Amino acid sequence: MNILSALQLLVGRQFGEIIQGSKRFAAGDFGYRIPGGSFGELKKLSETLNYMAGEISARMREAEVRRLELEAAFRDMSEAIVVTDGSGVITRINPRGRELMGARGFNAEGMRLSGMPAGPELSSAAIKALLSAAPVFLEIEPPASPGTVLSVSASPIVEEGAVRGCVLVARDITGPRKLEAMRRDFVANVSHELKTPLTAIRGCAETLLNGALEDREHGPGFARSICEQAMRLDNLVNDLLKISYAESGRAAVEKAALDLKELVDETAGSLESVLAKKRVSVSDKVPAGLKVYADRDKLSQVLINLLDNAAKYNREGGKINISAMAEGGGVKVIVEDTGAGIPAEHLPRIFERFYRVDKARSREMGGTGLGLSIVKHLVELHGGSAGVESAEGRGSTFWFTLPNT
Ligand code: ADP
Repeated sequence: MNILSALQLLVGRQFGEIIQGSKRFAAGDFGYRIPGGSFGELKKLSETLNYMAGEISARMREAEVRRLELEAAFRDMSEAIVVTDGSGVITRINPRGRELMGARGFNAEGMRLSGMPAGPELSSAAIKALLSAAPVFLEIEPPASPGTVLSVSASPIVEEGAVRGCVLVARDITGPRKLEAMRRDFVANVSHELKTPLTAIRGCAETLLNGALEDREHGPGFARSICEQAMRLDNLVNDLLKISYAESGRAAVEKAALDLKELVDETAGSLESVLAKKRVSVSDKVPAGLKVYADRDKLSQVLINLLDNAAKYNREGGKINISAMAEGGGVKVIVEDTGAGIPAEHLPRIFERFYRVDKARSREMGGTGLGLSIVKHLVELHGGSAGVESAEGRGSTFWFTLPNT
């Protein structure tokens, strides 16, 4: 074989290797490398092709990582995402989307949005977005999850001027809506609670100014009313301050090991006049030496509120039993009274702010309707819980727990 034909053979083999490598790359095998050993321009071509394959492979890996990241976000995000094509057929839906659409247990992809259990309202939003090529925002309550409020946005997918589909994003805003409603109720309640004593004070002051000041017989009665109503306002504002402090997150809980029996006796002592007024006796059955791990001022406030209620809503000459026991890594404190009890229908709401069984009776006794919600907040600040068992005519048993940590 002469040099020329040997060279031709070599170049032919190298071309063969380059063609073979190109085919592997075209088939997506970017890990393949064209063997070295060539020379001249063919060597440069092999190296360039190998470099290109390496670059493509690195980019693809990067794109795959991005895809996996997006996939994880799509799968785990708390928002529901539903993507449809231009005719309203679902092309992608994440697990939260399936939940909110009532499409648990079947694959909704390929199905019409309007055919989903929670679909009709979402579907009309998607149609609006598809027809107008503009985003649509709305709030809905899907029949598949009653009581849930969803904030939905439907955004058209526009490609070169044409609408190709729609992305629906739905967020559960039930919590924030409830909070808003609670805030509105709270403001309305506070305004109402303030208005009643203020109206009474104004009425009495006007009567005094219109001549009752000179009336030695009736005048003092109006002044007394002003004083009582002012005290009511004072109680209300104090309770409001306590509740806003407990709710603010600024209320630092400074826990220390406290002797519960001592604290109970001290609290009962401070309520002597309230107890004496109704001839209610307190029996402290807390075991001697039982320690609770709590903030002294806050625990004392809890006991005052519960004992004050147990006295206020007791019968003349009634009894209050206070007991406590170690329970589940903490202490359970129980305050029992022999009062009229609380009808069952009121029990679930009794710890709510301003909730009262008998508004007139509570007001008459200087109540603000905030005592139990303060108790609940303070106990929860300690990591404990509060509850009640009661039946009409059989007294009430309020309890709370305090963990040992
Ligand atoms: P208030 O200032 O009205 O006492 P609370 O929040 O302390 O407010 O209590 C809410 C309502 O729960 C009271 O108005 C009363 O109707 C009821 N309640 C609380 N404690 C007792 C109790 N020991 N016995 C009967 N009813 C009670």
